[in-house]
Parts: sequence; structure tokens; C-alpha cells
Amino acid sequence: MAVDVLTREPVAAPAEERNLFDVAVEQFHIAADVLGLEDDMRQVLSHCQRELTVNFPVEMDDGSVKVFTGHRVQHNAGPGPTKGGIRYHQDVTLAEVKALSMWMTWKCAVVGLPFGGAKGGVRVNPKLLSRNELQNLTRRYTAEISMMIGPNRDIPAPDVNTNPQVMAWLMDTYSMNVGYSVPGVTTGKPLVLGGSEGRNEATGRGCVFAIQKAVEVLDMDLEKSRVVVQGFGNAGSVAARLMAELGSKVVAVSDSRGGIHNPAGLDLAALHEHKARTGTVTDFRGGENVTNQELLLLDCEILVPAAMEGQITAANAGEIKARLIAEAANGPTTPEADTILHDRGVFLLPDIFANAGGVTVSYFEWVQALQAFPWTETEVNERLQRIMSRSFEAVYSTAKKFDVHMRTAALVRGISRVAEFTRLRGIYP
Ligand code: NAD
Repeated sequence: MAVDVLTREPVAAPAEERNLFDVAVEQFHIAADVLGLEDDMRQVLSHCQRELTVNFPVEMDDGSVKVFTGHRVQHNAGPGPTKGGIRYHQDVTLAEVKALSMWMTWKCAVVGLPFGGAKGGVRVNPKLLSRNELQNLTRRYTAEISMMIGPNRDIPAPDVNTNPQVMAWLMDTYSMNVGYSVPGVTTGKPLVLGGSEGRNEATGRGCVFAIQKAVEVLDMDLEKSRVVVQGFGNAGSVAARLMAELGSKVVAVSDSRGGIHNPAGLDLAALHEHKARTGTVTDFRGGENVTNQELLLLDCEILVPAAMEGQITAANAGEIKARLIAEAANGPTTPEADTILHDRGVFLLPDIFANAGGVTVSYFEWVQALQAFPWTETEVNERLQRIMSRSFEAVYSTAKKFDVHMRTAALVRGISRVAEFTRLRGIYP
């Protein structure tokens, strides 16, 4: 049941009709109830601290001008500077960016990073822009949000449809405006510009570390597990490759155009080559095409949603075959679906824990940039594994202690830490 932020009166509407921020606030209240959080604190933590909307012109290759809309939202700067990715997508809304920024706050707190949450987005289909137009858009968006970002203030990173090149343009634009190079203003940069070893793979790798811990407590065998991955981008393709390296059989993957399925296991190297050549995983000769909705219901032991939000809902949660779901994507499961999955005994590793590898290695990159002292890939991966293992144990024991599912347990852990910062810092003035 959705709840009004201020009155906490129920607002009846199925998750599909609510915006993503309503869903995030609803999840927050479920965990706040478990914690017995006081009303004043609920008000503070269920709002975003700063929300900026920018409408800005971009010169296109044909000389015309187009105005684009973007956002940067900081949910809570209590724990430290804020941190969160920037996405370019035609469906970006302020509500979505607010939800993602709130989840970033809890995520950083779940794994113990000294950051609050933020998020940014531009409403654009970047596939329709040339490289030059994409650069113009990135530079102007960076200039528009520059009063909010900075290495000690708010540090962006890549998200859907943004990549190290976009981060390099962002870093350069910010640096040109202040007059000196500021590598710490963003993470997910190319290696030569002060990026971190392991950052590109961090979200997928962290998700696989989380799966390895879950498999232990569920007494599953990775080598006998079939894996389905929705979304074959940065998070999903790395998770798929690493699962295959651990001996699991990746039987299906998908992208925005659809999925490809082979019960005997997909040849991922050949699939990568097919995707590089055709731009999609569909029509790969080594499998049968499936739709993204069919893909979620395929026979498998482990399902990794690694695409967009709102994929697992009350409409399909009852038919999902997987025993373990690891949310590499942010917000793929609605609260109704959480309940259905939990009642059916499906073990779910929630986004604010399962995909925290990305922001964790972003934190490592930020530390390396501030100290101008790079680490090796082995150091990065070992530290990531330690943090993911420790955080799994903390969330799992919270789930046992309060007799709740893993999402609520992760939220309880994240929210209680941020509430503690907030209490200790007090209200100014
Ligand atoms: P990406 O742009 O690299 O890849 C997204 C993939 O999803 C692409 O293969 C795209 O074709 C596919 N896709 C898009 N819409 C789809 C749909 N409706 N159905 C199926 N597939 C679809 O993005 P990414 O960085 O891998 O991000 C994916 C998810 O992971 C997002 O929810 C993002 O917020 C989350 N995430 C990413 C990071 C990171 O470090 N990149 C960190 C934490 C969380």
C-alpha cells in the first residue's frame, strides 16, 4: 500500500500506476515501521534535500538548437558528500531521479561508505545523437548542474547509457570552469584520466560476490545453476561472464530489443561478437529469441535483472521459476512482487545491496583520485569482496533478527545508519 509522505495515510494504487518515488517512499515506510522510526525522522528521510531541474539548449550537427531537460537530485548529504550516477534515457522523470537518489543514500549506508545519495538524468535517447551532439549535451548539462557537484560536494558516475567517455567530458567541463584539473569530481572515468582499475566491471562483479554469499546460505551449487540475465549492458554482461567463469550455465540474456535463450547454455564470447556486429543480442544463431517478459519466467535457478526498473510485478512474480534473484538493476521489483516472492520462498538480493559494487569501487576511485595514488586491480577486487561479504552477513543477520525479507533488512540497516548521522548532527540552525 502506498503511503502519503506527510500524513502516512494509505494511498491505494497498484505499483504500476505509482511513480518510482512513491515506490521508494513506500519501501522506506515498511522498513521505518520495523525500526519504529519516529515521525520527525520519517519526514526528514522521506524527502529529497535538493532537487534541480534544468532545461538547456544544445547545438545539433545541422546547426539547429534543441532544448533538453535534465535533473540532479541530492537525497541526503548527512553522511558526507553525495554520490550517484547520471543516466541518459528518453523516459527519465524527476520522480525516477528522486527515487534513485534515495536508494543511493540507503545503498551507501548498507555497505558503509561515507556518502549520501544523489542521482542525475537527462531526458534523451542518446542513440539518436552523434558523438559530437552527445558531447555538447554532456558539457552543457554539466555546466547547468555545476553549482551542485564537486569532489567534496556531489560526485557523479556512469549509469544507464553513460560511460567513461561521458565522465571524461564531465570532468573536463568542470575542470575548465574552475581553472584546474579535478579528477575527484566524478568516478567511472577512463583509466588514463584517473579512473580505477576494476571500476568498469565493479557492479557486475559485486553482484556476483553477493550471489556467491547467498548460494552458501541457500546451500545451492553454482556449477549446477542456470542463470538468466535481463539487460546485457555494463552490469548485466559482466555478471553473465563472471557467472559463466564460476561454472554456472548462462541460459538466457536480453537487451532492450529482446532476449535470446538456449537451455544448453549460451556461448557468451560469440554472443558478444554478435552484439558488437548487430547492436543486439536478438537473432543470435546460438539460441532462440524470447521477449523480455518471457525471459523473466524461464526455467533457471538464478535470475539477474540488470536492465530497468518495474520489471518484476504482481503480474509475473507468481510465475518466476528462479530460486535466487540478484538485483543488478535499480528498482526492478515492485513492493507487491517482493511480498509474493518472499511468500513463495524466493530469496532476493535487493538492489541497494546487490548492485552496491559500482558505488563501492567508485568510492575507491574517489579515494585514489584525492590521494593521487592508484591501486592495483587485485587490491580493488579484494577490498570489494570484503565489503560485499561483510555487508551480506550484516543484512542477512538483520533479516533473521527482525524476521523480514532481505530488501526490508537492507533498508533497515541503511536507514538506521542515516538516522543516526541525522540525530548526531542535529538540525541547523
Ligand atoms: P547499460 O546502459 O550499460 O545497459 C543497460 C542494458 O539494459 C542494455 O543492454 C539495454 O539494451 C538493456 N535494456 C534497456 N531497457 C531494457 C528493457 N526494457 N528490457 C530489457 N533490457 C533493457 O546500463 P547499466 O549501467 O548496465 O545499468 C543497468 C542497471 O543497473 C540500471 O538499473 C542501473 O541503474 C543499474 N546500476 C548500474 C550501475 C553501474 O555502475 N553501471 C551501478 C548500480 C546499478
